[in-house]
Amino acid sequence: MRFVDEYRDGRAASQLAAALRRLTTRPWTLMEVCGGQTHAIVKFGIDELLPPGVTLVHGPGCPVCVTPLELIEKALEIAAIPGVVFCSFGDMLRVPGRQSDLLSVKAAGGDVRIVYSPLDAVEIARRHPDRQVVFFAVGFETTAPANAMAVFQAAALKLANFSILVSHVLVPPAMEAILSSPACRVQGFLAAGHVCTVMGFTEYEPIARKYRVPIVVTGFEPVDILQGAYMCIKQLEEGRSEVENQYARAVRRTGNQPAQAYIKEVFEVVPRKWRGVGEIPSSGLGLAPRYREFDAELRFGVADRVVDEPAECISGQIMQGLKKPHECPAFAGHCTPEHPLGATMVSSEGACAAYYRYRRVSSTSLPIAEPVR
Ligand code: SF4
Repeated sequence: MRFVDEYRDGRAASQLAAALRRLTTRPWTLMEVCGGQTHAIVKFGIDELLPPGVTLVHGPGCPVCVTPLELIEKALEIAAIPGVVFCSFGDMLRVPGRQSDLLSVKAAGGDVRIVYSPLDAVEIARRHPDRQVVFFAVGFETTAPANAMAVFQAAALKLANFSILVSHVLVPPAMEAILSSPACRVQGFLAAGHVCTVMGFTEYEPIARKYRVPIVVTGFEPVDILQGAYMCIKQLEEGRSEVENQYARAVRRTGNQPAQAYIKEVFEVVPRKWRGVGEIPSSGLGLAPRYREFDAELRFGVADRVVDEPAECISGQIMQGLKKPHECPAFAGHCTPEHPLGATMVSSEGACAAYYRYRRVSSTSLPIAEPVR
């Protein structure tokens, strides 16, 4: 398949791995931002191809994983209300709340539906004016345009029975929070290609300058990731800290401007709580005042719920690159994909699920290298 097979070519990957070995003179720690990249790295053993001392740590770019527990609890509360049709992408249904999940609400008689687009939820609302239809709007900048479009259409159709439960987060503030931490070990980023497809990468340029950290917009196939790592380490070895674009087949510097216009029309930037990390200023999207009538938290009176995260789960440290999944005491014991304690074990993009699926035993042999600054 074009644009897939050539980026999984074993010979190209071996050549890049050899070039990386020639290039690298000392240990470096890079963070891949996106959970899709994490899965590719673990699935294809890309980290095992890297030169000794080069470490990839896993970032906060899994939208399901960073959705705070209190948002899950709000979803469960709304979904259980008689007369509500609660629509979500399938990967949110098994994310555990304190005692339940959306699948259990559905099993108990709640009308919880998997949809493939927020526009499907708008259509359900249009067809069933007697029901309250709620869409669980989770994700990064990647899913924000479609969710914005759903609200925009609902407003145009004057649908009084449609709302969204918003848990949108933004990548650049999370990168800044990681870089600002005294415990930060990240020296270079592989930025998430699909986010940049929408937003471009101008937002990363001041971050690269301020923190003197190279940022390489990177795709999701093995050759993409190896090339992204090569570009990032080349900058580090040469003492540069710039934004470069490995994923040029999909990303332009200014991104998709019509999609950005819909985001700006419907949402505003707000502080957001990240699961396991806490609140990060200006790191999320909430509905702009003129669209607030579509806010499910306000409509169903759940805006003030506060829920503490379980202490046992260290997913916050994993998503900041401070620990790896196998270092969690619960990994593969108390916490498995069948009985997940945290979202990073549930989500198809979660780091814990990737380690469990592809290298449950051998992962214990992967140390985290100390960075050299
Ligand atoms: S293994 Fe389970 S409990 Fe541990 S960090 Fe991952 S999701 Fe959380």
